[in-house]
Amino acid sequence: MPSEVQMFVLFGLNTQVRTLTATAGVCRHCNREAMQRLQQRATRFSLFFIPLFTFRRKYQVNCAYCGSLTEVSRQHKEAMTS
Ligand SMILES: [Zn+2]
Repeated sequence: MPSEVQMFVLFGLNTQVRTLTATAGVCRHCNREAMQRLQQRATRFSLFFIPLFTFRRKYQVNCAYCGSLTEVSRQHKEAMTS
């Protein structure tokens, strides 16, 4: 009789958005002066609901007026935070 091994593995990806800085600036989308929030999106890989490592990290600028999201490079993020 063959023995059957059943494995149940729970893994997933979850994304956390964190605001790093907020500066007033002119939005490229709506052309209005509003708070531009620099946000970090970190996607984490978790196993059995325990976050193991950061899978992907991206930066974006969020306009407080129109709510648009613009993806920015790491260099752009460093220029905004320094
Ligand atoms: Zn805007």
